[in-house]
Parts: sequence; structure tokens; C-alpha cells
Amino acid sequence: MPMAAKPISQLLRGETHFSRLEVIGEAPPVVHADGRKKRYARCRCECGEIVDVYYCSLLQGRTKSCGCYSADVHRETAPKMREAWTRHKHTADGTMTSEYHAWTGLKYQVQHADGAQLRKIRRARDQSL
Ligand SMILES: [Zn+2]
Repeated sequence: MPMAAKPISQLLRGETHFSRLEVIGEAPPVVHADGRKKRYARCRCECGEIVDVYYCSLLQGRTKSCGCYSADVHRETAPKMREAWTRHKHTADGTMTSEYHAWTGLKYQVQHADGAQLRKIRRARDQSL
């Protein structure tokens, strides 16, 4: 006889509120890459979204909302970051492109290299293109 699965409310130690999420029931379990079945709680977010969240993530506080929480945090921090980046003249529109990341290191080297090093860097760059 297989053991009866514990109700999700028991797994969550009777808690029903986790930051912006309210547990309203259990979602179908999800089989993960390691082959183990993981139990998910169906939650209603403060913003009204219904999301299924791995119950451990709720207990550990890793999942606090449907995603609107980090979106809010991003909305608050993004203008500051943009201001900082623009001040340092990294990119005019304040976004960090992957190209920017790739070339930052190289630019630094070029700015601080002497003639021989510069030729070496240019050669390496030409080969990588
Ligand atoms: Zn939300």
C-alpha cells in the first residue's frame, strides 16, 4: 500500500500566506529533471494572478509573488541604475547590451596597453571575429 500523500496544507505547516501569495489549494505535481515529483501549491497573488509554486520555495521565502514583486522592485531600482550608467557614460540609453559586456574588458586592455600589447590584442580580436 503506498503511503497516502500528505495534504499540501500540512507540507506548508498550516501557513496560507507567504508575502504576496495566499495558498488556495494544491496544483498538479511536476516531475523534475531528477525524476522526483514535486508538490506545487496553487496560490493567489495580491495582484490577482493565480500561480503554481513549488511548496519548498514558499517555505524558504524564495517565491514571494507571481512575479509582480520583483517587477516592482525592478521598477524602483531601474531608474537609479539607468542614472548611474548614464553618468558613467556606459551606454546612452542606460541598457547594458551583451556586446557591451563582451567589449568592456577588451576596451580596458586597449586603453592601458603599450604598442606591443596593443598589436597582440588587435590580433586576438581579429582572430575572434
Ligand atoms: Zn502578483
